Amino acid sequence: MPKRKRELTLKEVIEKYNDASPFTIIKADVQRRSVIYTDRAIKAADKNIHQLQSRGIFFSVGEKKDYFPVSLLLRDGTSIITGPLPSAKNPYIVDYIDGKSYLTDGGKIVEEVEYWPKPDYYEKFTSKGTPMWHVATSRPQRIDIDPYSYCHFWDTGKGCKYCNIGSNFNKNKIQNNKPARLDSQDVYETVKEALKEPGSLESIFLTAGSILSGEEVFDDEVSLYIEILQAIGENFKTKKFPSQMISSAFNERQLQKIYENTGIMSYTSDIEVLNEEKFNWICPGKSKLIGYKEWKRRIFAAVDIFGRGNVDSGIVAGVELARPYGFETEDEALKVMLEEAEEFAENGVSIVQCVWTPYPGSVFQNQENPSLEYYVKLSRSLDNLRRKYDLNIDLDNYRRCGNHPDTDLSRVI
Ligand code: SF4
Repeated sequence: MPKRKRELTLKEVIEKYNDASPFTIIKADVQRRSVIYTDRAIKAADKNIHQLQSRGIFFSVGEKKDYFPVSLLLRDGTSIITGPLPSAKNPYIVDYIDGKSYLTDGGKIVEEVEYWPKPDYYEKFTSKGTPMWHVATSRPQRIDIDPYSYCHFWDTGKGCKYCNIGSNFNKNKIQNNKPARLDSQDVYETVKEALKEPGSLESIFLTAGSILSGEEVFDDEVSLYIEILQAIGENFKTKKFPSQMISSAFNERQLQKIYENTGIMSYTSDIEVLNEEKFNWICPGKSKLIGYKEWKRRIFAAVDIFGRGNVDSGIVAGVELARPYGFETEDEALKVMLEEAEEFAENGVSIVQCVWTPYPGSVFQNQENPSLEYYVKLSRSLDNLRRKYDLNIDLDNYRRCGNHPDTDLSRVI
């Protein structure tokens, strides 16, 4: 592994990139380094108002009453989606000092934080007795629904190398009796209850692992999305409702079927790695079954169905530098990826980045993500591309999603 040169500190990066919001830079650094909580910071969390339980497809919190702040908010409303990571070498520490919670580093206060608020529906149960927080987790302003919590690329050992969905699912199935598939009646009732809270949640988000079965590849995944989206849609008077789906790359027939038969308004399929050679190594299942070029073509084709500004694609930023076959330098990675991101923008598709977290249970669990400066350069460049091509990113902005430092920059006009 090449020796890493000295990296700029948070303060140095904030000074150097003074055209970017410092909150966004702090967020990216906390996501790449992760956090731990002091005992008094955990004690300061209040089960009645803070979200201390969450059942997601990549991690769960509070399953056995081991309550824990699910995540953090900064003073300007920026979400930081992060949590303790066993492999983290240098995490930020969340501490509770004189009645307030803070991110601290090396014993010094970096910034004040709030714990995510708990929506009212979290305490309720469906008519079948399912706790509603098992059906839908929540970000500060979004309902998250995972219709299917397993990915069948894992069946043949071809899951994406940064992803832990299979190991997380197997652990939860044994420890917490978690089913792979959500019940559509449970979903209908949970969304109905969630919508009763005024001024809180403003969009509905769905994602799932890939389901490869069906007459044509992904047909069963398409059917499941349609069933769940129709159940959600029963709660709305209009046909369409504010919504996003991150799914496998469906072909035009499958996308048209979902669009026409449900209230879905926007579509995301993640290309994950913006380079065919690295994609083939890091995402072997997607590469073998569909291939990089076809995955990309399908995302571009979705713009004709959903409309410009309603389609984007996520990357797991940083995995392109993983060892041993990743790019040798951050500069090389940025150059190659941004050329590719520009082609997406030319075709009406925004690229949004998630900061790569080497999750336990993934093939890359012991690797190190790149420097903070890398993430800031990438965020600024992706935001600039959107401005150059006049691409709206409201579908994945700081309120609806909150996981992408680059779309946080797009909130400033
Ligand atoms: S397609 Fe890849 S990233 Fe998505 S759930 Fe499956 S293994 Fe994980």
